[in-house]
Amino acid sequence: MEAEQVTGVDAAAGQPAASAKPRREKIVIDAPDFSDYNGIMIVVEQRAGAAKKVSWQLLGEGRKLAQKLNTELMAVVIGSDVGALAQEAIYRGADKVYLCDSEELRDYRTRPYSQICLHVIATAKPEIVLIGATYWGRDLAGAIATHLPTGLTADCTQLDVDENRLLLASRPAFSEKMLATIMCKQYKPQMATARSGVFLELPRDPSRTGAIIPVPAQMSADEIATEVLAFLEQTERVNLEDAEIIVAGGRGLGGPEPFALLQDLADALGGAVGASRPAVDAGWIGHDHQVGQTGSTVRPKLYFAIGISGAVQHVVGMQHSDVIVAINRDPDAPIFKVANFGIVGDLFSIIPAITKAVQERRQLPFAVAATAKEAVAATAG
Ligand code: FAD
Repeated sequence: MEAEQVTGVDAAAGQPAASAKPRREKIVIDAPDFSDYNGIMIVVEQRAGAAKKVSWQLLGEGRKLAQKLNTELMAVVIGSDVGALAQEAIYRGADKVYLCDSEELRDYRTRPYSQICLHVIATAKPEIVLIGATYWGRDLAGAIATHLPTGLTADCTQLDVDENRLLLASRPAFSEKMLATIMCKQYKPQMATARSGVFLELPRDPSRTGAIIPVPAQMSADEIATEVLAFLEQTERVNLEDAEIIVAGGRGLGGPEPFALLQDLADALGGAVGASRPAVDAGWIGHDHQVGQTGSTVRPKLYFAIGISGAVQHVVGMQHSDVIVAINRDPDAPIFKVANFGIVGDLFSIIPAITKAVQERRQLPFAVAATAKEAVAATAG
């Protein structure tokens, strides 16, 4: 790092000495030596012993990066009674898991969790640390990066490494019009949070083996200033990122009322309702339902795009769905290019018919639960 220092200053007066012209000298501050930092570390997010999908997706992406760098993939699991989760992290791609299992870590709190991560990072010296860009991950990653200190690229949608082992962390920028690739050249670990639903998790492999390294809690219960009294579930908030079936509607619905039709179909399928941005901007449905570049990135087994034209900003958020069914009255709508099944027609007659077909199939004695497969079959039939 280089900085300029101005000399020739009259120290007593705080003014440049009259006779001497200020001299400028270059001072070179050596970058710290991080040559012993190696490996990729994923911090696993869990709640009540269940991991967030994004953590497994990051282990999948981390595995790819570790292969490129010819290094190991580590995970950090923190919580209470989470030993099984550490084992699960190995099945999902980790070579080594740092496990901090303690009763007082049952609920996430920034200080105790970040202290453990800082301890593990100081011990294991990973060159890259990745965390899900959830509320939890954004809070934790910011606290860790501030203490180290190092850079943090938030909300990434692409990750890669170059020949100098630099992390190329890419994220939408300038009102999501550009993809900016950000590097942290002088400090380690290089840190990034990454969006849910963008990266692919590996198939679970129970034959994988790895090391589980116990880590002591870094703070005692009485040192932790905050206490979680209760969790109040926000029942109205939709969790699109974990939904296996999404029924999404767009401007073609023409108003808020037709979302009730979509809700009926979603209920019949056991899915959630999504929306395009114009439907959200018009106030027809809440922002947590929005799919796309400025909404959620989703990867369900089945995605219905209803009255949605297929603009690129919508498609980037749902194109990785396993099966896409598009319903649009315009046969040239771009959404048909990404759809596996397309129905050209008026959504107001098609949706009730599909809902009825799904409900009838669910009543058959063998149809214990509507699955994505059954829904596709109902749609195709
Ligand atoms: P339209 O493009 O108006 O399409 C409506 C469709 O409904 C048409 O294809 C029409 O044929 C069909 N239709 C109408 N009536 C019927 C009927 N009765 N039956 C069947 N079909 C019917 N958009 C997002 O969705 N998510 C984002 O996150 C997002 N982020 C953005 C970020 C930026 C920076 C910008 C500039 C834009 C963003 N957009 C986003 C907006 C995006 O560009 C499109 O404008 C938007 O996706 C279009 O929404 P739509 O398909 O619902 O509406």
